[in-house]
Amino acid sequence: MKVYNFSAGPAMLPEEVMLKAQEEFCNYGDTKCGILELSHRGPQFMDVLATAKQNIRDLMNINDDYEICFVQGGASMQFCMIPMNFLPADGVADYADSGTWSSKAIQEAQRFAKINVVGSSKETNYDRIPVVRHWQPSENAAYMHITSNNTIAGTQFHTFPPVKEGVPMIADMSSDFMSRVIDINDFGMVYGGAQKNLGPSGVALVIIRKDLAARGNKNIPTMLRYSTYIDKDSMFNTPPTFAIYLLKLVTDWMKAQGGLAMIEEINNTKSEALYELIDGSDFYRSPVEPGSRSKMNIVFRLPSEELEGEFIKKAGMNGMSGLKGHRSVGGIRASIYNAMPIAGVEKLIDFMIQFEKNKG
Ligand SMILES: *Cc1c(COP(=O)(O)O)cnc(C)c1O
Repeated sequence: MKVYNFSAGPAMLPEEVMLKAQEEFCNYGDTKCGILELSHRGPQFMDVLATAKQNIRDLMNINDDYEICFVQGGASMQFCMIPMNFLPADGVADYADSGTWSSKAIQEAQRFAKINVVGSSKETNYDRIPVVRHWQPSENAAYMHITSNNTIAGTQFHTFPPVKEGVPMIADMSSDFMSRVIDINDFGMVYGGAQKNLGPSGVALVIIRKDLAARGNKNIPTMLRYSTYIDKDSMFNTPPTFAIYLLKLVTDWMKAQGGLAMIEEINNTKSEALYELIDGSDFYRSPVEPGSRSKMNIVFRLPSEELEGEFIKKAGMNGMSGLKGHRSVGGIRASIYNAMPIAGVEKLIDFMIQFEKNKG
């Protein structure tokens, strides 16, 4: 039986991608060598890197003002690289506190300088995006940082906040990267760990405006400077070749799906179907404020923790895994990133209807 994996990350990859990687694992492009074994300076990998970058450029409609970089250390490494590059010790940066990951980004940045939290939904257990109207930005922020999708609480920015002229907006898009159409010109930089929507863990995709990177602090280690990744085409040292190869396959797949507009439409269909079921039921309940609901991580509760345990167990027996909510919020979380097919969501919905009918 096919298992639909609703894990928040590492998350499922498109089946076509897994099969292609398997096919090429031992013999890439008739080299009789696996892609893992090929030199990163050789023509095969250079082509993989260039294609991955071009795919991302095409899919996200990214102009030449921006560079696409692959940085090791996941999204969490970005939490320190951003302030190290852009936040002088006597400066201030603005951060929105919309969930566990943004608060981690804030804590890390506080090691370097003053952080102004423009708005927070912590008091309501991160059940919403802090209302942008009430945000209190500082006069002279080095940048503004947001988390576009809050993986644990299940909230998402549906529109992005306006920023002041000259204040670059930086977004952690780990859990909704390339799940919808965005205008890159709204941002100085967007980044994310690949393991939610794009590929394997360990690598972060960073898309950064070149002039912003060039203004970064030069007195930090080479490997931590964005300008290094731009100047050396992400190859100052040996890059994570297998991760980049998989990113190339995933972005090939996204193109074959018809691009981000098509993918967004499918993501809308999947999430609307689930929320419709939750809202139409007295059994399931969404703890998230309706205007802030995530289309990637659908968090919901059942009438009791006992029933939630039963739900996860029975779902598992029926070929659906990874549905346990994060330990900090409990309940159920269905992560339905790009690779989750509509059929997987339909199967979950059928199961939910049946489970409610039997009341366990
Ligand atoms: C998963 C996640 C992270 C952490 O990613 P790592 O690659 O494990 O460092 C950061 N931010 C968000 C929004 C995430 O979902």
